[in-house]
Amino acid sequence: MGSVLFEDRFTRPPHVVVIGGGIAGLAAALRLRDAAPEGTTVTVVEQAGSVGGKLRTGRVAGVPIEDGAESFLLRVPEGRALAERVGLGDDLVSPTASGATVWVDGSLRALPAGTVLGVPVDLEAVAASGVLSDEGLARVRAEPGRPGTPLGEGDVAVGALIADRLGPEVVDRLVEPLLGGVYAGRADRLSLRATMPALAAGLADQPSLLKAARANRGTAAPNTPVFGTVRGGLSRLVTAVAHESRAAIRTGLPVRSLRRTPDGWQLTLGSAGSVGVGTTIAADAVVLAVPAAPASRLLADVHPVAAGTVGVLEYASVALVSLVLPGRVALPPGTGALVPASSGRLVKAVTYVSQKWGHVLDGYTGEPVTVVRASVGRYGEETALQLDDESLIAAVRAELATLVPLAAGWPAPLGAQVNRWGGALPQYAPGHLDRVASVRAALAAEPTLALAGAAYDGVGIPACIRSGQAAADRILAALPAIRRGEPVHG
Ligand SMILES: Cc1cc2nc3c(=O)[nH]c(=O)nc-3n(C[C@H](O)[C@H](O)[C@H](O)COP(=O)(O)OP(=O)(O)OC[C@H]3O[C@@H](n4cnc5c(N)ncnc54)[C@H](O)[C@@H]3O)c2cc1C
Repeated sequence: MGSVLFEDRFTRPPHVVVIGGGIAGLAAALRLRDAAPEGTTVTVVEQAGSVGGKLRTGRVAGVPIEDGAESFLLRVPEGRALAERVGLGDDLVSPTASGATVWVDGSLRALPAGTVLGVPVDLEAVAASGVLSDEGLARVRAEPGRPGTPLGEGDVAVGALIADRLGPEVVDRLVEPLLGGVYAGRADRLSLRATMPALAAGLADQPSLLKAARANRGTAAPNTPVFGTVRGGLSRLVTAVAHESRAAIRTGLPVRSLRRTPDGWQLTLGSAGSVGVGTTIAADAVVLAVPAAPASRLLADVHPVAAGTVGVLEYASVALVSLVLPGRVALPPGTGALVPASSGRLVKAVTYVSQKWGHVLDGYTGEPVTVVRASVGRYGEETALQLDDESLIAAVRAELATLVPLAAGWPAPLGAQVNRWGGALPQYAPGHLDRVASVRAALAAEPTLALAGAAYDGVGIPACIRSGQAAADRILAALPAIRRGEPVHG
């Protein structure tokens, strides 16, 4: 596309449109509000009836329960800083229980402390946990004496690398259950560089995986809580960020197409209902903060090659089954249990919600209850998700009775809810980071268009916040030229 000179366009202040009102889009909107020149207007266009995307707090039997994401890492700054920025710093809470278990050989064993996403660091702790068999443990112990092939600049699947160096049990019983909690993915399909970047970097000059894991076990003070969330639920964070951004929030409006115009961008909005059918809006700059499939569709007119590369990303579907049980049920200690894929079970994890997060019952005045939440669905295994809600709840309850046997048995729930997240968790395959870099390079000539969200730079909430803020920074860098009417498009 040739350079375009803008003449009279800034008789009005710049207008930035954020497409997608998940946490990445909202973080971008807030950064724009905080740093853009006075008069800049920001609109967030969201196809769903409300903003927040995968962050949504619901209610089951009167108890506030997360329908989607539950908490975020506190050992990286973005989640905490965003909460503080919007006045929720005093409402950050940390787990009231610690330690999780993994279901191995028919019983729950404590996950050894201090692994790097399941890669052992302290072999004595792994031995004491009983998670690995004697042969599995011997294989791990032998690793430093078996020089591996240097990783160099390349990328590999997490599962293949770890199985090769430490044996398949470490993948099956430790790494995959933990990665599954983040990606609902299979270790043999996930990129090492994208999902364990510090470990990948460590392996560039360190042939031993164990030694690389030890070197990367993190430098945070031991008393810093690893995870936190917002008292009252993550929807409070969403609402506060949306409010503080002072953006015009337009919900129920899917963006159907995105097109370059001589002086900016034109968006065509579809409808979710009858409002705004086929209307168009103009923008000087756009943050595209939607998952890969809609991002790919919207990029098709802008840069077909980049659109194709974005569209390669696959997603896993999951369902969360929340149960509110009557009374104070004596659950095993800890925050919950992970269930390896090799077990053939439907449930891949169970969280003892009211034990892990004491605050969820703050302000609840009904009869005593216990809340648990099971997570179902792994990449490529969607059959279970086709069950209707009633059957899924029944299947989960039946499995929980065998995975987590309780002395008094599992009581019938007072309330149960299924939240389905179809195509919700990106699967970063080997080469993901190179694909993202190639997309960004292809779009370098469009400085008023920025990509953000879980499709690119990390799926966790802090990573999505960071990517929204970085997208806003890219737009902010282009705004002065836009305001001066200089050419900003290649
Ligand atoms: C079940 C589940 C549990 C999770 N748990 C955790 C957790 O505990 N901790 C953690 O850190 N992370 C967790 N994650 C991951 C994390 O929540 C997400 O990766 C993150 O919230 C994604 O944010 P986002 O803004 O990139 O995307 P999204 O939240 O997907 O937001 C994108 C928005 O774009 C909108 N949209 C799509 N197409 C269009 C269009 N054409 N026009 C307009 N709008 C459009 C969507 O409706 C959506 O609201 C979880 C994810 C899931 C699915």
